[in-house]
Formats: sequence, C-alpha cells, structure tokens
Amino acid sequence: MEIIVGKTAGFCQGVKRAVEGAKQELAKSQEKVHCLGEIVHNKQVIQQLEEKGLTIINKWQEAKGKIIIRAHGIAKTIEQEMKQANLEIKDFTCPRVIAVHKTAEKYSQQNYYVFLLGAKNHPENQGTISYCGNSYSIIEDETQVEKAINEFQNSRYHKLLIISQTTYHLTKFEKIKEMIIQKIGNYTEVVAQNTICQATELRQKETAKLAKQVDRMIIIGGKNSSNTKKLYEIAKGQNVETIWIESPEELEEDGIAYEKIGIMAGASTPYESIQSVVKSLKEKELIQV
Ligand code: SF4
Repeated sequence: MEIIVGKTAGFCQGVKRAVEGAKQELAKSQEKVHCLGEIVHNKQVIQQLEEKGLTIINKWQEAKGKIIIRAHGIAKTIEQEMKQANLEIKDFTCPRVIAVHKTAEKYSQQNYYVFLLGAKNHPENQGTISYCGNSYSIIEDETQVEKAINEFQNSRYHKLLIISQTTYHLTKFEKIKEMIIQKIGNYTEVVAQNTICQATELRQKETAKLAKQVDRMIIIGGKNSSNTKKLYEIAKGQNVETIWIESPEELEEDGIAYEKIGIMAGASTPYESIQSVVKSLKEKELIQV
C-alpha cells in the first residue's frame, strides 16, 4: 500500500499563528485566558490548550482579563465593546481575513453593495459583514444568486462588489461570479475580487490532483471545519472513494484494501493528527500481512 500525504495538508499559517500565540499567552499568564469561539476546529488541539488553561467562551461578556481573537476574526462592533470593557485583547485574526475586511470596508465606503460568497453562519463571514454597512447579501451557493440579485436591485445601490470567505470553493466562486456578470454585468458596475486565501486555493488544487492519482482519499479534519468539508467535496467530485475522518479510530477495517491512498487535511488539522492516521494505516497493513 502506498500512502501519499498532500504537501499542503494541515495547519495553514493563520491557524498556526493563532495556536502558537495562544500557547505563548498561556505560558506567561497566571490567570485563565479566554478565547471567543473554538480557536481551531480540532478537538485534540482544543483539549491540549484547555489543559494549559484556555477557556473557550461563546460570548465575550463571559471573559475576564485576557481574551484571544482567533484567526477567523470578529465583528467590528464586538471588538469595540470588548475594548470599552477594558479586556486585554490578543488579536490573532489572520492577515488574510483582515485583508477581506479592508476590501469590504473600502468598497462599502464608495457606495458598493457587497455580495459575500460563503456560509451564512460562519464566524469569519459574521466578522466580514460588519464591514459592509447594511448593504450586503450572503450567497452560499448557485441557488441563492437570483435572490441576492433581487436584494441588490431593490436597494439604493448601483455598484456591486463580489468577494468571498477565505476558504470558499474556488471553482464555485468563478461559476457564481460568471452567473452574476452574465445577468447584470451589462448595466451594472461589478468588481469581483477573489479573496480566497492562497493556502486554501493551493490545498483545494492539490486535493483535486491527488484524488485523480489514488484509489481512495482520506480527508482529515473537524466535522465543523468548513474548509475540510470543501476538500471532502472536491475529492468526491473526482469520483474517487473518499472518507472524512477526525481521528484514526474512524478508519474502517477494510481501509487498507487499496493500492494507493491519498491523504489531505484541513487548515485546522495538526501534523500529529495526520501522522497518527498514517501510523494507523501502516499498522493495519502489518496485521493483515
Ligand atoms: S485558511 Fe487562509 S485565511 Fe484562513 S486562517 Fe488559514 S491562512 Fe488565514
């Protein structure tokens, strides 16, 4: 059995920075350190950090002292409220997410309506819309384009900006952008900025390429991780048998009946999780022999 682990599998720079930053804050802090939402969509990593004193909270009002902003970022108003409450803020918002906030803010101030492509309830997008004034529509997929165009046309705006969540699906972004331009591009000023981060783009491209070379794909990452979900969809889309697991315990017993296995992992999956899956596959193969 050959196992190929994708070169881009696992932690991206933004997540690495947030996790390392949290570790440093925990090491120098005598008191609890709070994080607004899960710092990373990975149970093992969260458990390790919680053992060191990190407390995950869902409302900033539950924090005292030090609070961490994770790589996804937060809404502008929440940040202002936290500052007014004199919390010590350690901001690990990924620079790529900050770049999306700046783009949204810049165009909103120039009277552009914003189409944000991404998941409605994703925390990153909740942050981004806070930079769009009240003039935005979130588009999750192709079926929501018509509705978003109606909302735009019923607003007082005449110019349109298209951006996306940093982990949005690249081919979907291009497809939806074309749909919008075809429908209203002739009589509307449309600016489309691909704000999908490079780490995501490279990971998605490698997943598609790897899926074409193997008999089975294993995608590793949290079930609540949106970027991992996209890798799963991309691999499946190549018509190769694909499974999505969080840990090696989920590997089925027939998991080694393949000549070539490809492994990819989401941006919030640590190197150790990938290694434990590889180790488990090798052990199962030895048992069978
Ligand atoms: S996926 Fe991209 S934007 Fe998101 S945290 Fe990682 S590097 Fe930053």
